[in-house]
Parts: sequence; structure tokens; C-alpha cells
Amino acid sequence: MASDLAPRFEVAVTKYASWTITLMAIAAALALATAESVAATAPMRIVFLHSYGQNFKPWSEYARALRQELDRRSHWPLVIEDFPVITARAEDENAEVQFVEYLSAVFSNQAPDMVVAFGAPAAVFVQRHRSDLFPATPMVLTAVDERRVQQLTLTGNDTVVAVRQNIGILFGHILQVLPDTKTIAVVVGNSPNERFWIGAITRELEASKDRVKLIFFNDLSFEEILNRAATLPIRSAIFWIQPQVDAIGAVHEGDSALRRLYAVANAPIFSYDDSFFGREIVGGPMTSVSDGTRAASDVAIRILSGEKPADIKTPVLEYGPAKYDWRQLQRWGISEGRLLPGSEIYFREPAAWERYRWQIALVGFVILLQATLITGLLYERRRRIYAEVQSRQRMAELAHVNRYSMAGELTASLAHELNQPLGNILTNAETLEVILKSPVPDMNELKEIAADIRRDDERASEVIRRLRSILRKTPFELRDLDLNEVVGETLAFVSLSAVAREAELASFLTSTALSIKGDRIQLEQVLLNLIVNAIDSTSASLNAERKVTVSTASIDDFAEVSVSDRGPGIQQDKLKEVFEPFFTTKPQGMGMGLSIARTIVEAHGGRIWAENRTGGGATFRFRLPLVSVPKA
Ligand code: ADP
Repeated sequence: MASDLAPRFEVAVTKYASWTITLMAIAAALALATAESVAATAPMRIVFLHSYGQNFKPWSEYARALRQELDRRSHWPLVIEDFPVITARAEDENAEVQFVEYLSAVFSNQAPDMVVAFGAPAAVFVQRHRSDLFPATPMVLTAVDERRVQQLTLTGNDTVVAVRQNIGILFGHILQVLPDTKTIAVVVGNSPNERFWIGAITRELEASKDRVKLIFFNDLSFEEILNRAATLPIRSAIFWIQPQVDAIGAVHEGDSALRRLYAVANAPIFSYDDSFFGREIVGGPMTSVSDGTRAASDVAIRILSGEKPADIKTPVLEYGPAKYDWRQLQRWGISEGRLLPGSEIYFREPAAWERYRWQIALVGFVILLQATLITGLLYERRRRIYAEVQSRQRMAELAHVNRYSMAGELTASLAHELNQPLGNILTNAETLEVILKSPVPDMNELKEIAADIRRDDERASEVIRRLRSILRKTPFELRDLDLNEVVGETLAFVSLSAVAREAELASFLTSTALSIKGDRIQLEQVLLNLIVNAIDSTSASLNAERKVTVSTASIDDFAEVSVSDRGPGIQQDKLKEVFEPFFTTKPQGMGMGLSIARTIVEAHGGRIWAENRTGGGATFRFRLPLVSVPKA
């Protein structure tokens, strides 16, 4: 076709003879380039001969990949025409002859530029009819085991891209990864090509027949194969060749047969070609579609470029590195330690950490944060409890000091209280001496005097007991108490002091006990503070009524004590302030009594407050929770 343009080139040279040699050269180059590109547009016709049909694995995968690869690498437009060699399913000679005639008719005008046969059935067919079928057309036999190629009938126009199925390696590998395997069921059909492989496997594994039992499913329909695969004995494996034409003549192309087998099989499935690999197959050494395609496309491109096929020698393809499906390894409990060295593991599911890295990190962070917060809070709580214990201890100590100072205030009246019984004892002792001097002492009188002395002594002891009790340094301790009793004891303690200060003490206590939980000494101290303050206030003004009233009451769930006086009262805006530490209006005052009283009441879960009375004076009240007495 390039010669069609030469006259035009000559005309151009004549017409523009005055042009420089350089321009002529450029024009010549352009013209040549155009000529070449026109020549290159002529399509190359390639015939693909498919074993059994266009969709039979593994060959269909080799054909599909080679088509893609040639489209990608070819310098020429390609016309690829597919012809399934259906006649090979049964090797029907009569049908084959007619198929050859049909092909010859299709290509009667122009022979194809290249023929590619995929798989042994197509190779056997095309070699058998080589002289009738495009005798001068270059031909590539690919995806075929070397044993299936008739070396003697190869012509100078033929070349082979063969693989080698190493039966020993394939089956030995099953025992390598599952050493306990006792049975291998071979899923294979009954077509001529498949029978070849049954024979080859039987022969080559003859030596291992005592170690592992081989079962071939070639004489079963596919439905029967499924039943058998579901009920294989334990320690079985399945070797998948694909029942391309099963015992009842049904063909199984594509993926569905393997998928159905996998759904029911009770044993792991192995195979020989990686076109089956990717879901159902465990893996191992396998022929590789990509290696085969690479080699076949190299050969095809060289042939299309004009090389003589017989000159192209391709080494037989061996197995690549073993491939395994991680999911199948997990399913069948195959340890990675048993895999062949240099294996590649596919479809590994990322560990939870890899898959949810951010979520886990976030949750971890939140947990850490929470743990830190909880630790912080626990630490704070401990500190608070410690501080509370400390403050209660301080309060107890302060209260103790406060009791001492109050005892000091009461010393005069206490001395008076002690003096009285001691004075009586002295008088009685003197009377006793006088009576004893008489010749006939009156025994009855003596007895009465002795009883008086005893009574006075007990009275003095009681005063000392009370004083010791109030001055005792005790830890804060809650006990079951009757608040009325506490009030009564305090009134007894302070009564003499009231008398000394010319103040009248009146009390109105509830008839029933007021059960509370409390620290007796500390509650007595609260009361003492309130009563002494009340007595102080009555002495503050000359014309004030010198009367202090102490009452108890039960209000809702609380026991209430109130201490009232008719003193000057408290400035309205100071009603709360009087409870603050160091608040005092007295020249010698410390301002700690009410503050301590509030702390004690609050430590008992109660509250204390002050009010002014109508008609003058103040009332201090405090309430403590009543202990609920179970009803009878
Ligand atoms: P102190 O008695 O040392 O001053 P308190 O804490 O007992 O300390 O009292 C604080 C102040 O509260 C007193 O100085 C007084 O001003 C006031 N107060 C307490 N009780 C009464 C009361 N019954 N009437 C009037 N004022 C009172």
C-alpha cells in the first residue's frame, strides 16, 4: 500500500523543483510517515479457538486476559474472532470435520493473520486438522499442559506457550498443609480431556495410594457430586478440576459450579489454576493466568511483527509463588506455619485494631480520660473525707477549749455548789462530835446525821462528775440519745450558776422522749452556750426580765430545742452574723461559742438559727433529725 503514494511524491518533486533539498527531504519524510500510517491501519485478524466453549474456566480467563493485553500492546488494529470448539466435548469426528469445513468457509477469502488455541481440547483439535485449517497461518497453542501438545506434528508456523501441571506437587501440597488428610476427592468431569487427567493423576500418585485415598467424581452427575461433597469422611480434601462435562453430559462453565460446591462441601477445596482462586479455594501452588498471559502476548506480538513462530521458543511455565486465601485458612484452621515458604496470603481481614483504629483510639482516650477523672474525683473525695475528719477533730478540740473557758466562767457557781454540801458535811461532823461526847448518844439522831453526810457527799460527787464529764476530751461519736435527757442534764449543771446570777431558768420539755443520734457532751455544750448567752443577755439591761426559758418540741421529723430570753435581742441584720467565728459584742467575749454550736449542730445533720422575740429578747433554736422509732 505504501507504493500507491510514490507517484504523488514524484509530482510534488517536479512541481516544486525550485524548492531547496531540505524542504524536499521534509516532504519526503512526511509522505513516508503518511504511507506507513495508512499501511498500519489495515486490521490484523486473529482467531481465538476456545476449548469446549467461550466461558469454560480456566481457559476463558486466559482468553479474556490475552485479548486485553493484545488490545493494549498491539501496534495494529485487531479483529479477534472467537470460535468455541464445542465438538471437543465428545471428540465427535464427524462433527469435527464439518466444523473444520465451516471454519475454512469463513476464512476462504482471506486467511487470518494468527490463530490462538486456548487449552488442550482446542490444541488437540487444531493440531489434528492443521493441514486443512489455514496451513500457512501462524498459530499459538497456549494455556495447555505440555503433555497435551503433539510435539511431532508441530509445524514451522506453530509455537507453544505451555504450562506444566506437577501432580506430585499439587497433591503433596494438600498433605503439607493438612497432614492428617486421608481422602482426596477429585471433582472432575468425564470428557476426553478430563479423562486424560484422571489417568495422569492415578498414575502419578500410584506410589502414595496407601497414604491417601483418591476418589474421582467423573462418573457422577453434578447433583450427585454435591451430595458426595457434603458427606465426605473427616480428614478429607477436595481437589477441584471442574466437571466441565459431567457423567450425564451436562456442561458446567463459569463460576456457578464451584460456588455451589463450596456452599455444601464439608472439606477444604484446592485447585491447580489461579483463575479459580479468590473465594472458595484454599490456595497453594497454582498456574498463573497473568504469567501465562504475559508469555502468550509476547509471543503473539512477535508473530504479528513478522517473526517465524517456530523460532520463538517459550520455556514451559512453572508454578509461581503459592497463594493462599486467608479466610479459607481461618475456616479450616490451617496454620500459617504450614504454608509453603515464600507464600503470598490474600484477603487477610484487617484485625479489629487495624479496621477501627480511630474508633478504638477514641474510645481508649475517652476511657483514659474517664479513668483520670475518676481517679481525680476519688482522690478529691479522699481528701475531702480526710479534711472532714480533720475539721471534725479540730471542732472537737475547739469545742473542748470552749468548754474549758465556759467551765472557767462557771467556776464561781461550781465552787458555790461544792461549798454547800461540804459546809453541811462539816456542820454535821461537828454535831456528831458533840453528840458522841454525851454519855448516852441518841442513836437515831446519829443515823440521821450519817445519812445527811452521805447525801451531801453524793451531791458534791455529782457536781464533780458533771464537771469532769463536760471537761472530758472525747472524739466525736454519735449514739442513741433522748434530747430531753441532754437538756435536763445541762439545766442541772447550769442551774446554780443561774441562781448565782439571779436569773430564773424555766424549762418546758415534751412528755415523750425525743430520740436522736448525737454526741452527748457536744450537744450539752451547744445548750450551755445558748443558756449562758441568754443569762448574759438578761444581765445586759437592768430592767430586763431575768428569765431564760428552755423548751423542747417535736416538729415533723425533727426534735427542736429553743432557748429564749428577755434581753436586748439581736440587731436584725446580725441574726446570721452572730454565728460567724469571732463575732462578739461582749468586752471579754471570744465570739466562738455560737460558731462552735453551729458546727456541732450541722455535724449532727441539723440546723441552728436565731430570732428576735416580739416584746423583746431573742430565741435561739436548733433542730436535729429524729430517729424514726419503728411503729409497733
Ligand atoms: P461570745 O459570747 O464570746 O461573744 P458567742 O458566739 O457565744 O460569743 O456570741 C456571739 C455574740 O452573739 C455575742 O457577743 C452577742 O452579741 C450575740 N448573742 C448571743 N446570744 C445572744 C442573746 N441571747 N441575746 C443577744 N445577743 C446574743
